[in-house]
Amino acid sequence: MSDYKKFKEERTFVLIKPDGVRKGLTGEIIKRFEQRDLKIVALEMFQPTRKQIDDHYPKEQKWVTRLGEKSLSTYSKYGIDPAKELGTNDAAKIGEMVREWLVDYMTSAPLVRMVVEGVHAVDMVRKIAGPTIPSMADMGTIRGDFSADSPAIANTEKRAVMNLIHASETPEEAMHEIKHWFGEKPPIFSYSRFCIDLW
Ligand code: ADP
Repeated sequence: MSDYKKFKEERTFVLIKPDGVRKGLTGEIIKRFEQRDLKIVALEMFQPTRKQIDDHYPKEQKWVTRLGEKSLSTYSKYGIDPAKELGTNDAAKIGEMVREWLVDYMTSAPLVRMVVEGVHAVDMVRKIAGPTIPSMADMGTIRGDFSADSPAIANTEKRAVMNLIHASETPEEAMHEIKHWFGEKPPIFSYSRFCIDLW
């Protein structure tokens, strides 16, 4: 595929998380992708198993430690003692705890899975979503407009940060996640958008 076509038809994977579904934001989230000229080419609501979620999130030490480091940096910013709140200040151990809370959170209600296609879809969807921590996300992003969660609150309540959606970080991760969530032959639809000349 030429680079031109590759960028125009890039695909990414998105999950609307339990808080997105339970806040009634499914339509609003889809709207934000569609209004930015992105196409929804696969879409389904479903109840995930713990194993599916456990397999979705990386198990590598580096990823788990980074998760713990995110908590530690928020704790340090707000002057909270991690040892007092979580019983440790070890990033890897906190990361393991957060990963377990993530599985609890992600299986607590149905999710909506989708494949989104369009110009630089991976970066575009992450930009529309906003950064991981909603309390730090700018207004105008999905996370900034509809959530105020923070690890300082979430971890004290022994839970993961609720941030409405998951979106792949790279085109390679998107390919892997589309396969994980939709199988070897994803039910992807092909159609041209009515309103613009790009497709
Ligand atoms: P993103 O979903 O933006 O790619 P990560 O891959 O870093 O973010 O983290 C995966 C998910 O773990 C986040 O979306 C969020 O739900 C949760 N999370 C991230 N950091 C923390 C944290 N410090 N404490 C609790 N939950 C967290």
